[in-house]
Amino acid sequence: MFTYNVDRIPSAGIAIDGELARDTVTFLLGDHYRPTSTPATIRFELQRRGDNLLVDGETRLEFEFECGRCAETFTREETVPFSLVCIQGAEDAAHAPASDDVDVDGLGEESSFSAAPTEREVHFYQGSALDLEPAISEQVVLALPDWPVCTDDCKGLCPNCGTNLNNEACTCATKGVDPRWAALGTLKAAIGGTLPRS
Ligand SMILES: [Zn+2]
Ligand SMILES: [Zn+2]
Repeated sequence: MFTYNVDRIPSAGIAIDGELARDTVTFLLGDHYRPTSTPATIRFELQRRGDNLLVDGETRLEFEFECGRCAETFTREETVPFSLVCIQGAEDAAHAPASDDVDVDGLGEESSFSAAPTEREVHFYQGSALDLEPAISEQVVLALPDWPVCTDDCKGLCPNCGTNLNNEACTCATKGVDPRWAALGTLKAAIGGTLPRS
């Protein structure tokens, strides 16, 4: 999927507007996310600039995940924009252009994707077959956090009683000392309630 014969890309470029197959989405999302039944969409423009190819677009995915703090299940839609420059050649070859040498300033101006960043990710390909899936999946993986949370200020679960603190308050905090601090209290008692003199 999303493999193109570079030699057949017309000078005017091509525009893709499609759906991502379900197993592709599963692959893109990784371990902590499950795709929903809502189809994932992808659209991008592929343009030729000399030997380089420019790809500007976005993919929209809906997925389920378990919050890393409160363990509730949530559904979220995420739009991941991507902006790539694809260079023919091997990344580790001595003659391959370093990414710093690739002049891509202003190359995104004709893109209809207003959010196209000025800095492009560099993707190397060999021969005349350009497979965009690895480069796009990398952008998706980078855009999604390893440990998703429902909201940045999710209060999580009480470590004592397991109450979801977003929904209700528990009385653990007023009942006694946090067990993590209790050990300090024991230590303080052991040294007679005073700190050692220096
Ligand atoms: Zn949460
Ligand atoms: Zn509690």
